[in-house]
Amino acid sequence: MRLNTRLRAALTAADEDQIVYDITGIEDTYDALTGELPGVRVRFAMKACPVGAVLEALSGRGAGFDTAGPNEIAQALAAGAPASEIHYGNTVKSDRDIADAHRLGVRDFATDSVEDVVAIAAGAPGSRVFCRLATAGTGALWGLSRKNGCSAADAVRVLETARASGLTPSGLSVHVGSQQMTARAWQDAFDTLAWVLTELRHRAIHLDHVNLGGGLPALGYHDLGGVALHPPMDEIFSAIRAGMRRLRAIAPIGFVIEPGRHLVADHGAVRAHVVRLTTRRQLTGDTESWLYLSCGKFNGLYEMDQVQYRLVFPGHLGGDQVAAYVAGPTCDSDDTFSKGRARILVPRAVTSGDPVWILSSGAYSTSYTTLGFNGFAPLPVRFARDGARCPVDV
Ligand SMILES: *Cc1c(COP(=O)(O)O)cnc(C)c1O
Repeated sequence: MRLNTRLRAALTAADEDQIVYDITGIEDTYDALTGELPGVRVRFAMKACPVGAVLEALSGRGAGFDTAGPNEIAQALAAGAPASEIHYGNTVKSDRDIADAHRLGVRDFATDSVEDVVAIAAGAPGSRVFCRLATAGTGALWGLSRKNGCSAADAVRVLETARASGLTPSGLSVHVGSQQMTARAWQDAFDTLAWVLTELRHRAIHLDHVNLGGGLPALGYHDLGGVALHPPMDEIFSAIRAGMRRLRAIAPIGFVIEPGRHLVADHGAVRAHVVRLTTRRQLTGDTESWLYLSCGKFNGLYEMDQVQYRLVFPGHLGGDQVAAYVAGPTCDSDDTFSKGRARILVPRAVTSGDPVWILSSGAYSTSYTTLGFNGFAPLPVRFARDGARCPVDV
């Protein structure tokens, strides 16, 4: 993946640490997605990037929002989305959360248990509920655990309970796992969806939509060994289109998708700086080079255990390199890129204060940032977009 000119210009102009979002890039990816999946409504999974200007841009393009609780609902409303385009996608919610969401105007709730359905019927009477189906998560960098979703047979029982409780059983949802790298996972999800949809029709429960969840990948990550991940986007989109045709042949339903990472990851980049490159002899007797950066696990790069971000040292293109372990600035040994298992080639000549760009770091960055662990403050957020005055000549 190439670094686009908007991000490059903003990173070049940055004279202090920050995270930059390319708003135009996010809008373009949104448009490309709706082009790949015509007629599918997009509800951005807010936790991937709960940044006002990003939410406003997506809302302006027609996106709604997948939210996890009243605070995200309030933020989505503030970004301009109507309550009808916001759903409560978290299966975990207290009575108070349900009542607050209802008061804010939300009428679409995810669920996966009879207990939760009973609570929704009490706190948000007459609302619409969609049942989340569990998936294996195979093929994803972050396969989801057993925390959310129920079996196909359970889903039938849950939606029957919803109907009996005066709620509208409105849909089914899945999440194939975050950064899902295979089309196969989607095919498997459609198998389960087809079974449940058919079973529900036998019970005269007629849903109006299927929510395809998140999981669409970012394009610009490397694996922990430094090899570029190449998600098979064409295959994935073909599998989704084929699956939708299959479900439409069972019942006249609409589709929703909840991308998070896919819309923002490649359009955010961190400008950090080099703290120091050191060489130390370990207890094992091995001599190791360590490059410490001003940004790490606790101030923007929480996901550094699973992916290797591409690093660019703009002052040192070409030149001698050294294989170094790379780590963030805190005293926590978890704050080490790739769990300290893989070394990364870095310029031998870097010195303290040199800028470094950390690419494809736009997803789950601001949201996973600590308030200032060890005193390292969250990164200021900046924006690049078409039409903005370009401060330097690139
Ligand atoms: C986190 C989440 C998403 C987004 O997942 P990505 O892998 O970032 O696309 C979508 N839906 C739900 C319910 C989620 O919890």
